[in-house]
Amino acid sequence: MAYTFSMNPRFHPHLVNGPQGDPVVYIEFKFERRAILFDLGDLGPLSARKLLKVSHVFVSHTHMDHFIGFDTLLRVFLGREKELFFYGPPGFMRQVEAKLQGYSWNLAENYRRGLEIRAVEVHPDHVREARFPIQRAFRRLAEGETRRPFHGRLLEEGSFAVRAAFLDHKIPCLGFSLEEVRHLNILRTGLEELGLPKGLWLKALKEAVWREEDDDFPVRVWTRDPARFPERTFPLGFLKERLVKTTAGQKITFVVDTILNESTEKTLLELARGADLFYIEAAFLDAHRERAREKYH
Ligand SMILES: [Zn+2]
Repeated sequence: MAYTFSMNPRFHPHLVNGPQGDPVVYIEFKFERRAILFDLGDLGPLSARKLLKVSHVFVSHTHMDHFIGFDTLLRVFLGREKELFFYGPPGFMRQVEAKLQGYSWNLAENYRRGLEIRAVEVHPDHVREARFPIQRAFRRLAEGETRRPFHGRLLEEGSFAVRAAFLDHKIPCLGFSLEEVRHLNILRTGLEELGLPKGLWLKALKEAVWREEDDDFPVRVWTRDPARFPERTFPLGFLKERLVKTTAGQKITFVVDTILNESTEKTLLELARGADLFYIEAAFLDAHRERAREKYH
């Protein structure tokens, strides 16, 4: 495996289709066999191998061009053991349910491995979440429904968060930002000075830093070739001081289909503040501002 590091960004975003295509941004997490999607347009160009990395999907709104990829993703994951999360605006849960119920699942109990669709519906002040397990023919689990307050963040893991904000497309439309809390870089020079090898242990080191383990937390330094480098263990504090440099994290913002007025402009600026990369759909030229307003774009 190629293992380059130091100052390498963790998130690798890629706009899947051209300007005329149905929007999808695929964001790959380096070294993690994981990806998230902003919007669920045409997934055709993405291989099954790429799609199988997806863990969370954020849907701005359910106009067809932003939601048509649902079936493709579902098809790829059938028969997999996986919880797949979908986030969308008010009404989303019912729409996910309707998509799932559009097929016959009488043989679904034959799937030994349990795919579960989680639909998270975002409201200005709360989110609702429902579960649709394949073994129950993707029927909504009444006992699995939860509700929690929403303060702007939809997903929070130690090292990153996904934020959402409400925009106006004559229906609520969500804008999203993926924000890395901070970025951890491994210093090549530090490794050389300590005579330590590159390898997968660096990922565990970073994770221990993200989890804010104590300085005496033991970190295993190992390679696949113990004859070349016998495994050793170091305290986290020692490695952190010599090997890890913290820099500002990455921020990626994604906005589509919204009218621009005083209120959405303020929301947009807040959502995109400090972004390294800002995806924004611009279907109209400035000269066609009035037509754009009529069409809520
Ligand atoms: Zn739309």
